[in-house]
Amino acid sequence: MTEPILDIRGISKRFGALAASDDISLDLRPGEIHALIGPNGAGKSTLIQQIAGGLRPDSGAVWFDGEDVTALSTAARARRGMARTFQISALPMDYTVLQNAVLGALGARGGVFRFFRPVMRDAALQARARAALEEVGLADFEAVRASELSHGQRRQLEVAVALTLSPRIFLMDEPMAGLGSEGSARLTRLLGTLRQRAPILLVEHDMDAVFALADRISVLVYGRIIASGSVEEIRRDPQVRRAYLGEEAPAA
Ligand code: ADP
Ligand code: MG
Repeated sequence: MTEPILDIRGISKRFGALAASDDISLDLRPGEIHALIGPNGAGKSTLIQQIAGGLRPDSGAVWFDGEDVTALSTAARARRGMARTFQISALPMDYTVLQNAVLGALGARGGVFRFFRPVMRDAALQARARAALEEVGLADFEAVRASELSHGQRRQLEVAVALTLSPRIFLMDEPMAGLGSEGSARLTRLLGTLRQRAPILLVEHDMDAVFALADRISVLVYGRIIASGSVEEIRRDPQVRRAYLGEEAPAA
């Protein structure tokens, strides 16, 4: 069996009396989409933050690419190839699609952003940016300002920016949120192709997307993983159906 690239080992995190993460272990293997589902307040975003480095767990460890990164900053984890998308839309809206992607590629090179115009004319950066735009289906939109894109296209652009950083894994927190059915369908197709580039830990409420994409699903309820398995196993699991999938309670 292939080694996990991301290995979360017994993470716990309390907020006062609340156990937001309760001894969570979970991994991500090359080539897969591992979906993390669970009701609002289950602790999904808190877990993603601990993986990305924005929050320090009280106990447990995050291993990434064979290294214990638990004590590393968000920036240090990003440099190692942890790409986090969709939590906040941080794209500079006045810049064009191509400019946004070039800025992403500049980050990958570790350059200091001092002179906007020379940077934008840098052939290597442009090539890297264009390749990423092509990959997410935005090649025809490179001259459009980010502010003029649809919601769904902005998500595509965020993926393109992440791709310029040569990610080793993607962490995605509810990428489908706020998208209509067409936008969701397009993003679902895109994520399906991305898994070849890097595996995805996908927090998502849209169960159509989850069932279409996930190789494995883990279910988080009150900070605990209550089940983990294939799509079929999770669909069948009676505990999951009760806790999350909206199994009808017997009429009172
Ligand atoms: P989810 O993403 O699954 O909806 P969250 O991880 O956002 O859940 O939140 C899990 C629980 O932790 C919730 O009860 C939330 O109110 C609480 N919580 C999240 N962040 C904080 C914080 N910084 N301080 C206190 N409580 C928090
Ligand atoms: Mg959340």
